[in-house]
Amino acid sequence: MSDCIFCKIAQGKIPAQFAYSDEHAVVFKDLSPKAPVHLLAVPRQHYACIQDIEPLNMGIMAKLMGAVSQVVKQEKLSEKGYRLVVNSGADAGQVVQHIHVHILGGAKLAQCP
Ligand code: AMP
Ligand code: ZN
Repeated sequence: MSDCIFCKIAQGKIPAQFAYSDEHAVVFKDLSPKAPVHLLAVPRQHYACIQDIEPLNMGIMAKLMGAVSQVVKQEKLSEKGYRLVVNSGADAGQVVQHIHVHILGGAKLAQCP
């Protein structure tokens, strides 16, 4: 999608600090970190949210979680733990309308619902 910031990052048109990249997904540092480690895992294909993905294309989420799995090991988060967050829509405060999984860790995190 031409005016989507995460599409532009995935295409290398806007700079980001990449932690991981493959043909299906990229993972880069959040510009405004909410934890000592705060990464965003983003599928290369543009969808605003999970319910927009056609059932036959839902493998995108499996591939995205494959990227997350690689990154939590690479960034040494898997031992002590980490949190994954996906904000969807206005009530959840989604700001960027391209599916992304927040990966938060590097310290004991406050409880969330
Ligand atoms: P959300 O509220 O789930 O839509 O979160 C969007 C996240 O994207 C926020 O945590 C922002 O700090 C982050 N963000 C926005 N623009 C960029 C960017 N250019 N590079 C890295 N992270 C970004
Ligand atoms: Zn996009």
